[in-house]
Amino acid sequence: MSGQAIGLKRRDLLKLIAAGVAVPSAMVASGCVSTGSKTAGHIVVIGGGFGGGSAARYLKRYNPDLAVTMIEPKTSYITCPGSNWVIGGEAKMATITHDYKAVRNNGVTVVHDTVKSVDTTAKTLQLAGGKTLNYDKVVVSPGIDFKWNEIEGATPDIAAKTPHAWKAGDQTLLLRKQLQAMPEDGTFIMVAPPNPFRCPPGPYERASMVAHYMTQYKPGARLIILDQKDEFSKQALFMQGWKENYGERIQWIAKTDGGEAVGIDADKKVVRTTLGSFEGDVINYIPPQKAGQLAQDMGLADKSGFCPINQKTFASKQINDVYVIGDAAIASPMPKSAHSSTSHGKIVAANIVLEMAGEPTIAAKNVNTCYSLIAPDYGISVAAVFDMVDGEIERIEASRGISRMDATRQERRLEANYARGWYRSITDEVWG
Ligand SMILES: Cc1cc2nc3c(=O)[nH]c(=O)nc-3n(C[C@H](O)[C@H](O)[C@H](O)COP(=O)(O)OP(=O)(O)OC[C@H]3O[C@@H](n4cnc5c(N)ncnc54)[C@H](O)[C@@H]3O)c2cc1C
Repeated sequence: MSGQAIGLKRRDLLKLIAAGVAVPSAMVASGCVSTGSKTAGHIVVIGGGFGGGSAARYLKRYNPDLAVTMIEPKTSYITCPGSNWVIGGEAKMATITHDYKAVRNNGVTVVHDTVKSVDTTAKTLQLAGGKTLNYDKVVVSPGIDFKWNEIEGATPDIAAKTPHAWKAGDQTLLLRKQLQAMPEDGTFIMVAPPNPFRCPPGPYERASMVAHYMTQYKPGARLIILDQKDEFSKQALFMQGWKENYGERIQWIAKTDGGEAVGIDADKKVVRTTLGSFEGDVINYIPPQKAGQLAQDMGLADKSGFCPINQKTFASKQINDVYVIGDAAIASPMPKSAHSSTSHGKIVAANIVLEMAGEPTIAAKNVNTCYSLIAPDYGISVAAVFDMVDGEIERIEASRGISRMDATRQERRLEANYARGWYRSITDEVWG
């Protein structure tokens, strides 16, 4: 392959990445961004969520000659986006459940197993099922795990009684069942986590969906949010939406106003805060978070619990030929979201393809959009584009968009429809 040909291919790839679009399959089929070698290398992607799913598919799109293996224990993935809608009775579990057929059809080898350990010197991975795999580069996207025991009584086993529902699946259904079973004038207590955590508007969308359910089935019930922080994402919009849709049903207590939890008794359903004790019929304790356990075991995380990366390429700052994306990575000021994770997946894929072709890496733009439903016909959103400035991700202030406080009911209705449209398109991009 001539240097000129490589140059052309690089330009084509860069144009497409800059435009934020996928490489058209016709171009991929013609080998335009290929290294031209059938032994282009083996990339292993750990985790089949938004980050891993996007990285695997885009690695294959950008260079079909790469061997790409994804390791994911679950045979179907249940998304956290949309799971608050399920809790509020506005969506079915089947709608938020996706299989890996399309990922396989895109040429990715999907192995349903758990990575037990990674030998980053020998460049091998050990799977719980007993297999060992070699890799040239590995992309780690294991999502989050929880910091238990940060307050008295918050041991891992309490999730069976006070569900966090912060990983979608059985926990989502358990929280929904508890909500359905609570008395008509009952109290639902949410302990919202401290920063940084997965999905900054997530707890407040959940509160909205729970309140929506209560207006239909538990008319006398109320919801108290005990927050581990003093402000939250889209706060003014949420507060306004809560008042308009639910009156005084939702009470939010900031950390310094006494919301800070100091203990939990899961059997008695009591949360103790700096203000006093709160007794509920349902307790939704969402613990503080850290990068998924594998990232901790691999030595990829720092004191914060998350993984420092080169924010241009998503390469780990700790270990060579290891990349960390999604919620596990420190990609601030990007929020930890499905949209961000999918964006990371595309950028890491492009840079790995370029590196493996001996080309310089690129500084691509990242994107995030977060929709939230306050009611089924009342949506709000925030969006931003992020650029690289001096090797760090920085939000382009002029790109920031947030729903207007004075929007009409019709605009809120439209945004609610966009939220459902966003869900369909982002899941289609990864699993469709
Ligand atoms: C209630 C809620 C609502 C949300 N709503 C939105 C929303 O509306 N919009 C939005 O953009 N984001 C939303 N999010 C955030 C979004 O779910 C996460 O940011 C996103 O899932 C992160 O992607 P990820 O790939 O980092 O992790 P995940 O999607 O969690 O994927 C990680 C995968 O890694 C696998 N894994 C872990 N360890 C191993 C191992 N050792 N071996 C193999 N596989 C492993 C896991 O099984 C998992 O499937 C929401 C989150 C919550 C909790």
